[in-house]
Amino acid sequence: MGAGRRFRAKMRDLPEDNMRPITVLATLLACGAIHAQDSAPKPSHAAAPVVTSDPAAKVGELERLGENGREVMVLGLDAPGFDKLKPSQRKYAYFLYRAAIAGHDIFYLQSHRTALEIRNLLEAVYEKRDSLDPAAAAGLEEYLKLVWIHHGQYDHWNHTKFTPRLLTFEQLKAAAQQAKKKGAAFDLAKGESLEKKLARLRPHIFDAKVEPVQVNQTPGADPVATSANGMYDPGITLKDIEALPQADQEKLNVRFALLRDKKGKRTVEAEEFKVGGVYGQDLERVTYWLKKAAGYVDNTFVETEKDGVKKLRSEPDANQKAALDSLIAHFETGDEAQYKAHTVAWLKTKGVVDYLNGFVETYKDPRGIIGNYEANVSIQADSEKITRLSQNALYFEAKMPWDAKWKRAKVDPPVATVVNVLVETGDAGPVSPAAYNLPNYADVRKEHGSKNVVLLNVENSASAKVKSQRLEAFFLPEDREEVAKHGDLARQWLVYMHEVIGHGSGQADDSLAGADPGTKLGSAYSTLEECRADVVALYQFLDPKVVEIGAVSAEEHLNAAHAMYLRYLVDQFAANANHQGDTIREAHDRGRQLVLNYLLQPSRDFGVRMVEKEGKRYIAVDSLNKAHAGIGEILVKLQTFKSMGDKAGAEAFFGEFGTKVNPAWRDDAKARAEAMNLPKLRAFVFPQLVPVMGESRFAKEGEKREVLNDVRLETREDLAEQMLRFKRWSKSREIAPK
Ligand SMILES: [Zn+2]
Repeated sequence: MGAGRRFRAKMRDLPEDNMRPITVLATLLACGAIHAQDSAPKPSHAAAPVVTSDPAAKVGELERLGENGREVMVLGLDAPGFDKLKPSQRKYAYFLYRAAIAGHDIFYLQSHRTALEIRNLLEAVYEKRDSLDPAAAAGLEEYLKLVWIHHGQYDHWNHTKFTPRLLTFEQLKAAAQQAKKKGAAFDLAKGESLEKKLARLRPHIFDAKVEPVQVNQTPGADPVATSANGMYDPGITLKDIEALPQADQEKLNVRFALLRDKKGKRTVEAEEFKVGGVYGQDLERVTYWLKKAAGYVDNTFVETEKDGVKKLRSEPDANQKAALDSLIAHFETGDEAQYKAHTVAWLKTKGVVDYLNGFVETYKDPRGIIGNYEANVSIQADSEKITRLSQNALYFEAKMPWDAKWKRAKVDPPVATVVNVLVETGDAGPVSPAAYNLPNYADVRKEHGSKNVVLLNVENSASAKVKSQRLEAFFLPEDREEVAKHGDLARQWLVYMHEVIGHGSGQADDSLAGADPGTKLGSAYSTLEECRADVVALYQFLDPKVVEIGAVSAEEHLNAAHAMYLRYLVDQFAANANHQGDTIREAHDRGRQLVLNYLLQPSRDFGVRMVEKEGKRYIAVDSLNKAHAGIGEILVKLQTFKSMGDKAGAEAFFGEFGTKVNPAWRDDAKARAEAMNLPKLRAFVFPQLVPVMGESRFAKEGEKREVLNDVRLETREDLAEQMLRFKRWSKSREIAPK
């Protein structure tokens, strides 16, 4: 039944400030974008402080929700680099942004059949909050914010139902009646009063026992019948689905409806997501904006020849154009083959502005087949520096510490990109992954590769308060200033080098005769490969070339490198807070624990010490040179295992240094993390793209015709402002709606 058709390769967000249990992580991953969302929470590594001249800018921690603020931290994001784009790229981004917002509500409908209705009801009351009883207004506001963040009444990650903490049904009812008096519109169904509507929605909002689980994959349970999401009508069972044609069962863009004829005979039908079908109006608006975006794809130069004279002609980028055309066709016809065609073209696009839009991940479907709507728009981050790094990939390859026979003579351009997101909707936001690896079609991946995308502004977002708490809790006093100054830059370059010169480096030994070492390494592969890419970054960041590339100034290079080592090791020590049982299971976690344990071996001197003070453990890096030598040793070992496809060797190495939970470290790190009172989840407010309108040059005399002249980026909204604007903008076809 489509098993294995898609990878679940998108990394779910495990932001560093979140204490999320490892079990929450849906992982498999081919590699790639991992660092961003460890299974283990890592200490705040956060981005360079946002320098802004705008005193109204809302960037960083904006608010906290839930008891003692422990449920959610809401963070405002900036997207550096937007102002450096060409105006045509800004317009391209803007129309993609509008397409993303136009589809946002679809994910509510997929989450639960009442989720969008509940949200609309709460919003209508919320907009009249000034006239309400203050306690009811506050209780409603908290619940509504959680509904926005989770797209309904089920937790985004663990799929269980939550109910209002500070709001009773009676309060909601009185508030709704009051709001109605003040002119709130509730868009009531024919023949249904506000009271009836409230009574109907009551169990869905207030009773945790009614349809308690959104996605139930408990062994033995009927996943379809016992899951409360919007993709199967109530009453449908797995057996019903399995009785349908195979093609329907495996479809990405369908929901299943239960129909009864006059005699009560049931039939189950697959209904496609498409214009004119399920979510038709929303998808029609998505395509409206995608068509506008198609007019602003990048121009590329194509060589043409006429009468023996070669000329360069500027043309719209064929891949970007083909990707959008196929995506539009997919939404218009429901044909999944068009979505695949889109994906193949999308993989080939190289533009500074990128996007996702469609039915992508399958986490809300208990069968893991149906896609959930999500969309984003992003711009390449630091693209000049990353390009310079990538242009020097061969230089770094030559300087790898391993045997020359395992070095590449030619280095493939990296498949990874590092971006700043402008917006994420549906399944992708306000709770965001920190990275993803797509597409999910195994056959497309095999033939055309995949894209690893690190969402830098998400990955780096942090609360200034949490950052300073972490610094105090986990770093030695003498290191704090240096880490505060260089730690973010170091962390950023660790990500860049991991992706750009890490994964692509090295080659298999001739004795493998062309066989893929990954296949030989099997289950040991992802741990080995992620660790190897990290260690490449740690090793190469000391090379003077990084100064030439512009990563850091010559004067600050060694301090930044020292901060990189400290951050890496201390972050991993702090991540021990999350270890459970006696075995470290997650690939990246194992890799980082290996580096930490290897450098701390009592019988060796790598210039790294664990210091105990008043029962707390700290890490000191006394000699960068010795630590670098240790990193070089690890790298040679890892490359040897990889080049030789030596699974037993890799397993023994990770078994010795990376797999065992250290209970003393765990308890120590846990006590300090708990004292920081960190929220369980992060949600984001994205920057706003503001259309700048102007007079059309083609307007006739006396005619007033406004066109999009340019687009500006601002960071001035809070969560409520963002979500209410999404609501207004999602239904509008105006270029500059109110
Ligand atoms: Zn990676």
